[in-house]
Amino acid sequence: MKRSEKLFAEARRIIPGGVNSPVRAWKSVGGCPRFISRGQGARITDVDGRSYVDMVCSWGPLIFGHAHPSVVRAVQEAASRGVSFGAPTPGEVELAREITGVYPSIEKVRLVSSGTEAAMSAIRVARAFTGKPGIVKFAGCYHGHVDALLVRAGSGAATFGTPDSEGVPEAFVALTRVAQFNDLGEVEGFLRSYGREIGAVIVEPVVGNMGVVLPRAGFLEGLRELTRRTGTLLIFDEVITGFRLAKGGVQELTGIAADLTCLGKILGGGLPVAAFGGRSEIMDKLSPIGGAYQAGTLSGNPLAVAAGLATLRDLGPKSYVRLEALGARLEEKIRRVLRDRRVQAVLNRAGSMWTIFFGVERVRNFAEASAADTQSYARFFHGMLERGFYLPPSQFEAAFLSLAHGEAEVDGAADAAAEALGSR
Ligand code: PLP
Repeated sequence: MKRSEKLFAEARRIIPGGVNSPVRAWKSVGGCPRFISRGQGARITDVDGRSYVDMVCSWGPLIFGHAHPSVVRAVQEAASRGVSFGAPTPGEVELAREITGVYPSIEKVRLVSSGTEAAMSAIRVARAFTGKPGIVKFAGCYHGHVDALLVRAGSGAATFGTPDSEGVPEAFVALTRVAQFNDLGEVEGFLRSYGREIGAVIVEPVVGNMGVVLPRAGFLEGLRELTRRTGTLLIFDEVITGFRLAKGGVQELTGIAADLTCLGKILGGGLPVAAFGGRSEIMDKLSPIGGAYQAGTLSGNPLAVAAGLATLRDLGPKSYVRLEALGARLEEKIRRVLRDRRVQAVLNRAGSMWTIFFGVERVRNFAEASAADTQSYARFFHGMLERGFYLPPSQFEAAFLSLAHGEAEVDGAADAAAEALGSR
């Protein structure tokens, strides 16, 4: 811990909160964040030489775990050819081909560098296409730190109890309406009352950012139907779920075609690539064809694209069978631990993403997630950490398994949970 503590002390002097993204500061669980020096497969090692099974996986991108050989090779080869040109490169076309190949709803796609940019740009093009400025989002969903979407946001915003951000003028969010996830009636009401103003409904189709929350049967289908009826675009933010729950994300699993899709995380294999895409008629509203401006110096960066391509090419149907089996094993074992230890908690899971909420019976929306006992989560986090398992340092984030994890890591996590919860 000594080196992490020293680094954190210095970081806090010269970086706000000592971190470049708020949740990394461990504010809601307490303690000193571990500074990480390396990762290999399912494990990370901190600067003090302690090794942990990593259940954060860089918040989702590392579906093959750390330092996946084909990703490392692809990045090295790309770097040796030059790291950035600001001109089109063949890899960008290949990555666009990979994306459109697995997402039938995406006819055209544009690459950007972060999920925030993807969501921001999707909203812009939706407004340009429909001519309607209003947006509906869901409480507890997080779409990056876009001004108009930082309203009752999940993830770090929820962690710090500031789901509405200072520095975002009210006028910037005046066009954003917030519904409760899984409440179709509320969305219907908004669209009935304000349908002529609302250009887009944006949703995480399986939520990761209030912890994992699943859509109830018919919710996503209902959103599709309602938006279609009112000429509103449906935006699926699959920044987490894309390539994670299936190669074609929630859209592959449900057969629902979104009008616009945001992708990120796994798409870049751990390097900064994200994307937004949809039907050609919508995407052609973008400059240089249409009048909606969007651009980026490092968009489609060759290193990031190479990492993304290497990742997507290694992912096949068997990957998802394996991830589901690992997730199901973890769920079963941890549920048994919770029962045996008589701990009131629920485990929500979709494939390889999961969350334990303490002190509640079910979590289907942000109101229910917010009722979870975050102090119990913090104790659990530290109990797991002491036993060598690195979980998200916040109740309101998903934990992830990767293809580098195996039965040993899953069973070890359940054993560690039994100890951690037994010694409370
Ligand atoms: N959308 C979702 C669903 C996310 O989970 C995130 C980040 O966690 C974002 C958008 C923003 O992505 P980024 O952090 O790359 O800006």
